[in-house]
Amino acid sequence: MSPADLPLAPATFAARVLAWFEVNGRRDLPWQQSRDPYRIWVSEIMLQQTQVATVIAYYQRFMARFPDVESLAAASLDEVLRHWSGLGYYARGRNLHRAAQWVMIHGGGRFPVDVETLQALPGVGRSTAAAIAALSTGARATILDGNVKRVLGRFLACDAPPGTARDRALWATATALTPAQGTDAYTQAMMDLGATCCTPRRPRCGACPLQSDCRAARTGQPEDYPRRPSARTVPEVALQLLAVTDADGRVWLERRPPRGIWGGMWCLPEGPPDAAPADWCTQWFGTPPERCAALPEIRHVLTHRRLRIQPWQLALPEGAGEVPQRPGVWYLPGTPPPGGMVRPVLDLLAQWPASSPFGPAAHPLDAFGPA
Ligand code: SF4
Repeated sequence: MSPADLPLAPATFAARVLAWFEVNGRRDLPWQQSRDPYRIWVSEIMLQQTQVATVIAYYQRFMARFPDVESLAAASLDEVLRHWSGLGYYARGRNLHRAAQWVMIHGGGRFPVDVETLQALPGVGRSTAAAIAALSTGARATILDGNVKRVLGRFLACDAPPGTARDRALWATATALTPAQGTDAYTQAMMDLGATCCTPRRPRCGACPLQSDCRAARTGQPEDYPRRPSARTVPEVALQLLAVTDADGRVWLERRPPRGIWGGMWCLPEGPPDAAPADWCTQWFGTPPERCAALPEIRHVLTHRRLRIQPWQLALPEGAGEVPQRPGVWYLPGTPPPGGMVRPVLDLLAQWPASSPFGPAAHPLDAFGPA
């Protein structure tokens, strides 16, 4: 596979994709209403691992609070992660904050638009840097995100194993296909084609502008391309999360250690897997709980782990537990959280029945107001 193998001239390829985009492209997404590189950067980072439908509300809340790189750099990391709560892959939020501070210190507050400087920002790789440059200035910069890899891998029926050699060939092909003019529209068009037409499962080849020359479509099994990495076994980890509540309906939260699962996020304390929750409560809060109940098990998938979470509710008696022997905070559900919170805890607090010591269910994200 190389640019010389292309079944179509690059200009014809781009013209077909652009004509398709003219009719089918997405143009009303909130981050498409501006060419501000800061706004495009935030959207590209949010979209790296998350579906568009989920990102929209997060993006709007984030922009309402951090409308420019200056406000993002000046905020605390806790506040940034609070706006990332539930979005997952929290290193993205931490990198965003670090990158904003870098821009303020080393870039004089002007968000960069050249690929080389963009790529030096924490969390910005080659394709993301190119997307920001192309979408904000129209510069000829080549992207190769997951969507574009899939489109090109199928168009050329690439059956090379995943790895550096294949990536190098795909980059060369993507570069050869990127037009010198109208790169912004072409970049968006390729992203849209991969996201809405050449989807991972059941691609809509009948609606695709590349179908007549697509080698994977010709095989009748387009989903088989490009070859995927062999499935790896993801280890399962069991853990207990302990929801200690006081008589005022507050719940005890602790910040996770900076490294490891959910590093730096605010969470319910994790009890040792073999400890009895009531004994744990007595040890740290100086009193046995008035009520100790197992809640329904939660399954949660991370990149490298599958979590089997057993939550417990530990209700302290009146007047107890004001000074626990652990660092953390009492948090009243429905009020702004102390920092970033992870999806299983957000959902657990939001689903708490009205009769519980947490009081009526209120999703912690509701504390930000409507998106
Ligand atoms: S024809 Fe089908 S497999 Fe080929 S690029 Fe289009 S949607 Fe993907």
